[in-house]
Amino acid sequence: MRCGNLLVVSGPAGAGKGTLVSRLSDRVSDVWVSVSATTRAPRPGEEDGVHYFFYDDAQFDRAVAEGGMLEWAHVHGHRYGTPRATVEQKMAEGRQVVLEIDVQGAFQVREMIPQAKLIFIEPPSLEVLEARLRGRGTEAEDEVIRRMKTAEVELSRKMEYDVQLVNDDLDQATDTLVALVNTYAEQD
Ligand code: 5GP
Repeated sequence: MRCGNLLVVSGPAGAGKGTLVSRLSDRVSDVWVSVSATTRAPRPGEEDGVHYFFYDDAQFDRAVAEGGMLEWAHVHGHRYGTPRATVEQKMAEGRQVVLEIDVQGAFQVREMIPQAKLIFIEPPSLEVLEARLRGRGTEAEDEVIRRMKTAEVELSRKMEYDVQLVNDDLDQATDTLVALVNTYAEQD
C-alpha cells in the first residue's frame, strides 16, 4: 500500500486558507482535509464534526493524555488540535492529507513527520488582512486586534515554510496550490 503525502497549510486568519483548501479539495479528488478539534465555541452555522469537533476542556485533556492528538496548540486563547487516528488512516490509504493549522502546530508536525510539506498562505499586506477580518463581520473589535497581533507573529515565521503563497488573486493562488499538490502526488 502506498503512503500519501501530508500537507500543512498555515497563515494568518483572514489570509484565505479555508477558501483555498476547500477549492483544492474540490479540484483534486485525492485530497482529504482533516477536521480539527477545538475548545472554542461554534460560530453561527458551524457544525460539530464538519467544521470542527467541538470539545470541552475535559474532552480535550483526555484526547491529549491518550496520545490522540498528532499536534495541538493554544491559538487566540483556545486549544486546537489534529486528531491523530484519521490522519494516519487516510495517509495509509494513499490520500493527500491536508492540515489547516497554525504555525506552532506546523512545526510540531515537521518534527514528527519531516517529509510533511509546509505551505504558508500570505495576505497581500497587513492592511488587506485587517480589512478582510473586519469585512467578515464575525469578530468583535478586540478579537480583530488579537488576530492582527497573532498574524504578525505568524508572518515572522513564513520563511521557515517550504512554500510561501501570496493570496492576492484567489483563482491564481488556487491554480498554484493545485499544481503544487499534483507535483507532490507525482513524487510519491
Ligand atoms: P478559527 O478559530 O478562526 O477557526 O481558527 C483559528 C486558527 O486556529 C486558524 O488560523 C488555524 O490556523 C488554527 N487551527 C485550526 N485547527 C487547528 C489545529 O488542529 N491545530 C492547530 N495547531 N491550529 C489549528
